[in-house]
Amino acid sequence: MPDSSQYDILSLLSGGLDSILASRLMQQLGKRVLCLHFVTPFFGKPHFVNKWKEVYGLDVLPVDVSEEFIAMLARGPEHGFGKVLNPCIDCKILLLRKAKSLMPRYGATTLITGEVLGQRPMSQRKDALNIIRNEAGVGDILLRPLCAKLLPEIPAEKSGLIDRSRLKAFFGRGRKAQLSLAAEYGIMDIPTPAGGCLLTEVETAKGYWPVLRLQTGPLPDDFRLAKAGRQFWSPAPAPRWLIVGRTQADNEKLCALASETDLLFSLENFTGPTALGRNAVTAWPEALVRSAAAHMAAFSGKAVAYARETGHPVRVLARRAGAENGESMLVTPEKDAAGWGEISWPQAKEEIRAQARKMAERGKQGGEYVCPNKIEPA
Ligand code: SF4
Repeated sequence: MPDSSQYDILSLLSGGLDSILASRLMQQLGKRVLCLHFVTPFFGKPHFVNKWKEVYGLDVLPVDVSEEFIAMLARGPEHGFGKVLNPCIDCKILLLRKAKSLMPRYGATTLITGEVLGQRPMSQRKDALNIIRNEAGVGDILLRPLCAKLLPEIPAEKSGLIDRSRLKAFFGRGRKAQLSLAAEYGIMDIPTPAGGCLLTEVETAKGYWPVLRLQTGPLPDDFRLAKAGRQFWSPAPAPRWLIVGRTQADNEKLCALASETDLLFSLENFTGPTALGRNAVTAWPEALVRSAAAHMAAFSGKAVAYARETGHPVRVLARRAGAENGESMLVTPEKDAAGWGEISWPQAKEEIRAQARKMAERGKQGGEYVCPNKIEPA
């Protein structure tokens, strides 16, 4: 663990080449740099921290911001979502605020990021960079070393504390300048382009959206569950959440993520999926438990074939997570029993639009800023 007051600069390190280069550039200027690597269920690679130290010579501190990040998503990001469920502007603001709050602990006086003007459509346009800087309250202390020469000077540059002449003026999507700087620093191991934010991927986002909309006070594990297997919800007015494993790895993950208030479903006499009903112990009516069991059984080819050929039901065990025993019940395998259904991306997107419309009516969507990728109110 780094000493609490030995750094001049805190760097927001995503693990992509740009943030590595920005941090190394400041080290070249003689600055002591502590890299903060933010982690949520949607992004972050804390298992790379040692590699970044060994390969790139960077001090890296993983910082878990899951709670604040999920709260922002659940409230609805004030600057809206990007093309999928990525609230990039609000994300950057949140991370910068968090980094700023950590500065006194490490004695740092400047924050840096690896952003490059014109590189990303949503969060790295000049107007977006300004919104982020101002709303995060970091206007005087935030430096973007890779494009600093294209941006106004900050006090640390004006005072000579940081030599502006040695900062860069990178612009646009090209990687040539970055690769050339990496070569200059002897960086041979070029990380694959940053990314990997699950909020930008439709497949995961369509599982996340109903969690945000329908789960009260969603927790980090809810989002881990939302990408383990097939996601089903029972109809309104009291939607319940059922996850059916697709693979053995999913089944194991469901068992590992199950909490005491969840129900686990499994076939007693056939191979097949495991299913998890979230918050199910006291709140689910008996008929719903049986319909969940029938729905889960319908994903076992062997159970379905047996029921079809013999006309007999199959046995499913529904047990509380962690308990040896549970309730054994006979059900006929039936997909979509009692209306268990998946939420499609077009449906989720329509609901996101409706939320954007409501927020716009309340005047909460970023003043004059209009993100080119934002899902606009229809
Ligand atoms: S892509 Fe994900 S991690 Fe990156 S700024 Fe957007 S929300 Fe944040």
